Amino acid sequence: MLDSGQDLIDVRSPADGRVVGRVPNERPEAVSDAVAALRRAQPAWESLGPKGRAVWLRKLRDWLLDNDIRLGDVLQSETCKPRAEAALEVPFVCDVINYYAKNAPAFLADEKVRASGPMSLPKRLSTVYRPYPVVGVITPWNFPLALPGLDVVPALMAGAAVALKPSEVTPLSAVELARGWAEIGAPPVLRVLTGAGQTGAAVVDAVDYVQFTGSTRTGRAVARAAADRLVPCGLELGGKDPAIVLADADLDQAAAGLAWGGLFNAGQVCFSVERVYVEAPVYDEFVARLTKVVESLRQGADDRGYRVDVGALANQAQRDIVERHVTEAVRAGARVLTGGKPTGAGTFFEPTVLVDVDHTMSCVREETFGPTIPVIKVADEDEAVRLANDTEYGLSATVWTRDLARGERIGRRLDVGAVNINDALFNLFALTLPHGGWKSSGIGTRLGGARGIRKYARVQAVTAPRGPQLQGKLLWYPYRAGRGRIVSRALRAIVARDLLRRFRR
Ligand code: ADP
Repeated sequence: MLDSGQDLIDVRSPADGRVVGRVPNERPEAVSDAVAALRRAQPAWESLGPKGRAVWLRKLRDWLLDNDIRLGDVLQSETCKPRAEAALEVPFVCDVINYYAKNAPAFLADEKVRASGPMSLPKRLSTVYRPYPVVGVITPWNFPLALPGLDVVPALMAGAAVALKPSEVTPLSAVELARGWAEIGAPPVLRVLTGAGQTGAAVVDAVDYVQFTGSTRTGRAVARAAADRLVPCGLELGGKDPAIVLADADLDQAAAGLAWGGLFNAGQVCFSVERVYVEAPVYDEFVARLTKVVESLRQGADDRGYRVDVGALANQAQRDIVERHVTEAVRAGARVLTGGKPTGAGTFFEPTVLVDVDHTMSCVREETFGPTIPVIKVADEDEAVRLANDTEYGLSATVWTRDLARGERIGRRLDVGAVNINDALFNLFALTLPHGGWKSSGIGTRLGGARGIRKYARVQAVTAPRGPQLQGKLLWYPYRAGRGRIVSRALRAIVARDLLRRFRR
C-alpha cells in the first residue's frame, strides 16, 4: 500500500514486480500551485479560439503517431497488456483529436436562439459557450493513455486548462502525454500531477470541473468533495455488465464476441461483459463453445510480437479480488470449466468460465474487473431482463440474437447507459455516442458529439437590443398607473389564447 508521505512512487510491472519507473507523489500544496499556474495560462489558451487550439492538438496527434512504438512499450511496461491491445490506445486518442479538432468550431459556436414568444421578440438572443478555466481529469489504471486522452482532448479543445491525475498504478503513459505536449512546444495548459489518492483529492479541491473515472467508492468521495465546493463533476464508475444470449443467436459469434468482451484487457474494462444469461435451449451448446474459445487463449507477458491474447491484472490487489470471487463461487457450488486460479507468475489470473452460479454470489453481484465469465441459464427473455437489471450498476449490456428488432426491443428494457447488439465494447469506439453509466455507474456522460465538448463549457446567456430600446421605457422606474395598466393589458393580450381572456379588463 502506498504511504501518502512518500515522495516518489515506484511503478511496477505486473508481469514480475520489477520497478519500471518512478514518479513524484505530488503534495496538495504542489497541486494547488500547479493549478494556479494553469489558471494564469488559460485565458490566452481560450483566446486562441477552437481553430487555434486545434493546431496544437493536431501537433500532439502527430507526436503520438511518431512515438507510437515507444508509447506501446511504456503502456506494456506498466500494464502488461498484450501488444494488440496496447497498440490500440494511440490511434484511439488520435481519433478523438481528429474528431474534436474538426468539429469544435461548430460545437462551440455561439447559438443564436429564437424568441420563445412575443415577450422576448425585441432582443437578439444567444447562448455562448465559455470554458471552465481549469478542468481536473482523474483516471484509473486500465487504459493509461486512452482514458486520459478521452477526457483531456475535449477539455483542452473547449478552451480549458487541464490538470490530469493518472492512477498511481500506471502513471507512466500520462507522463509521456505531458512530455509530448511539452516537446511540441504547446502553451502550458496541460499538467500531469502524479500521486496517490491525496493528490487526486487535492485536484478536486482546486479545479473548476472534475471528470473522474474509477471505482464507485472513490467516485462517491469525489462527488461529495465537488458538491462541497459547488463544482460540477462527471463520474464514470463501476459496472457489472450483463450479456443476454437468446436462443436464435449465432452461437459461434456469441461465444467469440463474449470471450473477447469479457477478457479484453484481462477483463479490466468498465464497459465490459461481467455475467452472461443464456436461454435454456442453447445453454449447453453455448457454454461448450465459449469454453473452447477461452481454453484456446494464450496468456503471458507480450513483447512487440503480438503473440499473447490475455495479459495480467494491474496489481496484486486486483488479482486478489478476482481470486476471492472465484473461490467464494466454488465454495457455494459453482463449477470452473476452464481457468480458475492465478498462474503463479506476476499478477496473472487464468481466463475463467464459471457455471452453476447465481445472484447470491460475489462473482455475479460485485464488479470483478477480471478475466472471469460467469454463465447463468435462464428460462426466457423476461427472466434474462429481470436478472440483468438486478444490480446496483447500469453501465452497459450486450444482446445476442439474429432478430435485430428483438435485440433493440430488449435493449430498451435494460437499465444501462449503452447496449451493443451482437458485439461487445463497440460503443466505446463511437465518439458520436455518449458514454455514461446509469444508477451507481456514474453521473453524466463523456463524448457523444457536441455534448462531449460543451460539458467543459459554462453556458452564458446574452441578450442585446434588436431595435430601439422599448423595454426601458415600459418596464423601468418610475412605475405609473397609466403605463402599468397598458403594459399589463398588452401582456395579457400576448399570453392569452382565447378572445375572451385576451381582452377582458
Ligand atoms: P482503482 O483502484 O480502481 O483505480 P480508484 O477509484 O480508487 O480505483 O482510483 C481511481 C483514481 O482516483 C486514481 O487516480 C486514484 O489515485 C484516484 N483517487 C483515489 N482516491 C481519491 C480521492 N479521495 N479523491 C480523488 N481522487 C482519488
